[in-house]
Amino acid sequence: MPEAIEELHSSLRAKFRGDLLQPGHHSYEDARVIWNGMYAKRPGLIARCADVGDVQAAVRIASACGILTAVRCGGHSLAGFSTCDGGLVIDLSRMRHVTVDSGTRRAKFAGGCLLGSIDKATQQAGLVFPSGVVSHTGASGLVLGGGTGWLTRRFGMSCDNVEGFTVVTADGSVVRCNSRENQDLFWALRGGGGNFGIVTEFEVRLHPLKSVTLTQGLTAEPEIRLLLEFWRDFMASAPIDLKWNIDLRLAPDEREVPAELRGRPVASSALVWTGPPDEGEKYLRHALSMCHPDSVSSRVVSFLNLQTMADAAFPHGQRYYTKSGYFTYLDDVTLDRMLEAVVLLPSAGTLIELAYLGGAAAQVSAGETAFGDRSAPFIVNILASWPEASGDEVHISGIRKLFTNLRPAMKPGVYVNFMSGDEQDRVPEAYRGRWDRMIAVKAHYDPCNFFRLNQNIPPSAQNES
Ligand SMILES: Cc1cc2nc3c(=O)[nH]c(=O)nc-3n(C[C@H](O)[C@H](O)[C@H](O)COP(=O)(O)OP(=O)(O)OC[C@H]3O[C@@H](n4cnc5c(N)ncnc54)[C@H](O)[C@@H]3O)c2cc1C
Repeated sequence: MPEAIEELHSSLRAKFRGDLLQPGHHSYEDARVIWNGMYAKRPGLIARCADVGDVQAAVRIASACGILTAVRCGGHSLAGFSTCDGGLVIDLSRMRHVTVDSGTRRAKFAGGCLLGSIDKATQQAGLVFPSGVVSHTGASGLVLGGGTGWLTRRFGMSCDNVEGFTVVTADGSVVRCNSRENQDLFWALRGGGGNFGIVTEFEVRLHPLKSVTLTQGLTAEPEIRLLLEFWRDFMASAPIDLKWNIDLRLAPDEREVPAELRGRPVASSALVWTGPPDEGEKYLRHALSMCHPDSVSSRVVSFLNLQTMADAAFPHGQRYYTKSGYFTYLDDVTLDRMLEAVVLLPSAGTLIELAYLGGAAAQVSAGETAFGDRSAPFIVNILASWPEASGDEVHISGIRKLFTNLRPAMKPGVYVNFMSGDEQDRVPEAYRGRWDRMIAVKAHYDPCNFFRLNQNIPPSAQNES
């Protein structure tokens, strides 16, 4: 590999407009770091592209030299796919331009954008692109996997709001796809992740929204069970303006948490109302009064505040591990299992995150995008974070055990962006019902599986061998 990397480096050097960072370069140590501290790898070369031409050159030469290649936008892959040892990282972080057309409510953004850069640009026109809940997340990985967030029920998933992609495919060519051109690729990129090429530009629909009503509540035992039962049943007929997420956890030792709750199991609710504030009041008040929370706050916040309020809770460099699944219904046994598990969670950094989709996301039929079936509205995501490698065993085994307990009641399927790096065997499950079509598109655009550091769909030839 070192010789191949040297060959790649010298071939790229003449015309590359971005930065070529090898070990020893003063920027290399910072540039090699990704968000999940579990994956502290050392690429042989980081090609930080300045434009589409750089991306094409890096893909062409790396593919010809057979170099293991990772693609990075925001570096937030929970599975650590945006880095590798010894190979090439195609880093898009210099490609972050966003253009907004307020008249047509459309935007174009480049393949290296973070969510925060898109939010800032679109908010200047009073518009939003529905994406995720942490502004330092990369948009490319999030949108290509699907993309859920506060606005999913109101405006659909991120991928549902994409109207076109510009992609550098495995042979280095630039391909455009949308509802009229290269429809198979357009279908596959809306949920299929980084399997088909490097997206250099997204064309998306925007929606008017400047602020939301945010209500937060903390519920302790013995009321948590009541809250979960109420939430489970209430959300099925809640208006699409309401997104209500609940985290089950041990209350952290933090100033804003009442002292008597710290270290005890709690359910932390966040309710976001995107409609007129006075209309939302009745739903939010009614909902929370049913659940006897220990503390409640409600306020109107700007969209930019909403989008950054969770940033500090997910810092770069911690170690993270996750497992996730869908439920059609959260039956009583499943609720019992989750509640029993909260008491045993290894640390306050471990969350059982509960979200309810439905709304506009559920209006898109299973065949319309590679993201597929949206009929199971409950997403349960178990996520742990801890600072040191010495905590790996207790956190990872704790999550696996809880996942195994919950698994029998889950509907087959998983959201690829909430998968860990040890779950490649679940990729066919994630794309069940769409697997053959995904393989066919992969075989057409990436027959040698050059783009394989991802929730990988093998090209058909490799699948058959
Ligand atoms: C703190 C945090 C918060 C999150 N919140 C949400 C959330 O609210 N909603 C949600 O849906 N998900 C969320 N996620 C999951 C997130 O969607 C995935 O981790 C996603 O992969 C992050 O995208 P990225 O660009 O930062 O990833 P990267 O690590 O940069 O890339 C991940 C993979 O995406 C592919 N890729 C990246 N850029 C490109 C490109 N331009 N073209 C083609 N392929 C590319 C590559 O295969 C790469 O391996 C969150 C993750 C984190 C860490």
